[in-house]
Amino acid sequence: MSAPAPATATAVVADVPTQALTLDIDAIRAQIPALHQQVNGRPLVYLDNGATSLKPQVVIDALLDYYTGCCANVHRGVHSLSQRATTLLEQARVTVQQHIGAPELAECIFVRGVTEGINLIAQTWGARHIGAGDEVLISAMEHHSNIVPWQVLCDRVGATLKVIPFDESGTLDMAAFTALLSPKTKLVSVGHVSNALGTVHPVERIIAAAHAVGAKVLIDGAQAIPHGRVDVSELGCDFYVFSGHKVYAPTGIGVLWGRRELLEAGGHWHGGGDMIRRVTFEETTYAELPGLLEAGTPHIAGIIGLGAALTWFNELGLDAVAAHEQDLLAYGTQLLSEIDGVRMIGTAANKAGVLGFVLDDHIGAHPSDVGMLLDQQGIAVRTGHHCAEPVMDQFGVPGTVRASLAVYNNRADLDALAAGVRKAIGMLS
Ligand code: PMP
Repeated sequence: MSAPAPATATAVVADVPTQALTLDIDAIRAQIPALHQQVNGRPLVYLDNGATSLKPQVVIDALLDYYTGCCANVHRGVHSLSQRATTLLEQARVTVQQHIGAPELAECIFVRGVTEGINLIAQTWGARHIGAGDEVLISAMEHHSNIVPWQVLCDRVGATLKVIPFDESGTLDMAAFTALLSPKTKLVSVGHVSNALGTVHPVERIIAAAHAVGAKVLIDGAQAIPHGRVDVSELGCDFYVFSGHKVYAPTGIGVLWGRRELLEAGGHWHGGGDMIRRVTFEETTYAELPGLLEAGTPHIAGIIGLGAALTWFNELGLDAVAAHEQDLLAYGTQLLSEIDGVRMIGTAANKAGVLGFVLDDHIGAHPSDVGMLLDQQGIAVRTGHHCAEPVMDQFGVPGTVRASLAVYNNRADLDALAAGVRKAIGMLS
């Protein structure tokens, strides 16, 4: 598959003009305190952004300001601190809405992350609208959090989980996808960008084809949101989920966006405070969205931190971010491909953020051996199956070494990675 023209809805792809989109990476790096440390006596080279990103000072400050300045619970207090905290929380919701182009504020639900967002949809809308004989379609490249909730649901209701295959480059087989679609398909749930391989999926085409058979579409945006512009209205999907911690925000906070009518049709999920209108022992009536799906005290600091992170990220210029990371991806791919003994895993034409590889069999090294040798040189990468075991099974490897990019990475990081891998091969051979 050749890289499609950059879609307006998802500028995480290549082909973004680099002229006039230059970022001052040194200035960005200066804003990330965790970058400036030694690990194992060497300056940190952080290339594990697919797992989580390091945080800019403005995000850390937002957390500190909340805990030191207006630490109070939200929505229920008449006192000033509570009102300030509520205002900050609801401002963050507006920032989220604008960031992803959500039609309505109330459709933006705060959850713990992608995992919780997908489980929420499976157990609400899914449980009510997917039944015996129906089909849920996912891809073979999904993160476990976009597999297991659907397996659980299908087992419970007697539906069938179907899987879209991919080829040796890590590109989805769109012909197979089309063939799998039928009026039985109630939901297509796919990643926007694969965390294991970096493939950017043609989600616009997937959404259009799924809608043509009457299926709804959930997009797991965990690895797309950090790499550029995403607009859910332009995409036309039905649900979109992302985790804050991968986009420079704190851990434990994420967003589920869904079309109002679908979220309402799914009904409530957790029961408790904030999600009710009136409770008596005889009967409980429920709140409107977003409260309906946000039972209990939310992660207030995390939400405020997410707002600060998205504001910071936006101000960098999302097209510039995408262009910078595409440059790094091309540079890193070339450097690693030139190394004798390295086999790249995930070579789709349209990728974002991920450089995955294994060492040739004759070297006899497990990916975690490489990871440990890189760590000794201060280089942080992830090794293993990346919560995508079916992907590893298809490639016949126990795992890969994955370097994953963020906006604060630079070519020097990739030079260090390539030098580190050469050194590791020397030690392992
Ligand atoms: N989907 C993808 C594509 C991911 O990369 C991840 C995190 N590695 C998840 C889902 C799960 O995200 P979280 O653990 O933040 O819920």
